[in-house]
Amino acid sequence: MKDQFNREINYARISVTDRCNLRCRYCMPECGVKKLSHADILTLEEILSVAEIFSRLGIKKIRITGGEPLLRRNLPDLIRKIKDIRGIEQVTLTTNGVLLKNFAQELISAGLDGINLSLDTLNEKTFSDLTRRKLFPQILEGFQDLIGKIPLKINCVPLRGVNDEEILKIAALAENNSISVRFIELMPIGCAFESGLRGIPTAEIFSTLEKNFGELIPIYSKNSLQGPAQYFKIKNFSGQIGFIDALEHKFCGNCNRIRLTAEGFLKTCLSFDSGLDIKNLLRSGDKNLEERIRETIYRKPREHSWELGIRNEKLGMYRIGG
Ligand code: SAM
Ligand code: SF4
Repeated sequence: MKDQFNREINYARISVTDRCNLRCRYCMPECGVKKLSHADILTLEEILSVAEIFSRLGIKKIRITGGEPLLRRNLPDLIRKIKDIRGIEQVTLTTNGVLLKNFAQELISAGLDGINLSLDTLNEKTFSDLTRRKLFPQILEGFQDLIGKIPLKINCVPLRGVNDEEILKIAALAENNSISVRFIELMPIGCAFESGLRGIPTAEIFSTLEKNFGELIPIYSKNSLQGPAQYFKIKNFSGQIGFIDALEHKFCGNCNRIRLTAEGFLKTCLSFDSGLDIKNLLRSGDKNLEERIRETIYRKPREHSWELGIRNEKLGMYRIGG
């Protein structure tokens, strides 16, 4: 369906939990995270019902996220069922990779179309400092094991003084592997401020890569499900490099996405706390749920105002799903 600004809305990010086995400094506080009870979050059946409504409203791609989605029980089963919904063309997953090795085969058998692995560093010590957990070796193992088995994207948030020395090494993962390495600007959400971490502008990363690897040649895609990343090819690289620069180049004009939190709240813009409490409507048997979701999507805000220092959304990214 189209929203009030004539944008085609066809992509939903569904968070299945707000729990996580890491504590990335820019995303989640070390302690004091409010633990939601099972009753607070949508059941898998409820998620499925919402996904069915989404598909009737024109959603074609669903990304499963969290918190850490692989902590949610029976996730492969949910993926298999969402894949079976008529109109859903793609189901993908964003994960920190800690549990990838345990679940990779089941996820692939369930029909998952792709995995985004969040990996900000290839240095074990930097990883432990940034995520406050010593789990790097098993992530690396899970990642290496997965190459060639399913379309894979690496998501890296460049951070000043943390991983800036590693940008070339991380980009070079796409040299011999047919994967996409994407650099995502740190957004002013969650613990990003409090952590004292500073992001690195995309333009700077871009120029570092060009100086070392040669020209970055833009790849134009007609795929309407692609989302906000801009992709580039480097000569002799098997994979691609992508950039998501929410701050420098607002992509709100082409935004095609909505988000469902683990608590069943429909968010139509990353930077606003407005939306629809689907969980309550679902549980009270509201007969007009589909219409109310349609209206809420239609009213999706025009754009974020981060560049003006306006922060409407107070939830952490682990509760929104990225
Ligand atoms: N736990 C999973 C993971 O880390 O991939 C999925 C959820 S996590 C919230 C999704 C993505 O959001 C991760 O790639 C993470 O790096 C990104 N993220 C979290 N906080 C962010 C922020 N303030 N700015 C930019 N990206 C952020
Ligand atoms: Fe957990 Fe992902 Fe947030 Fe890191 S970015 S704390 S892995 S939800």
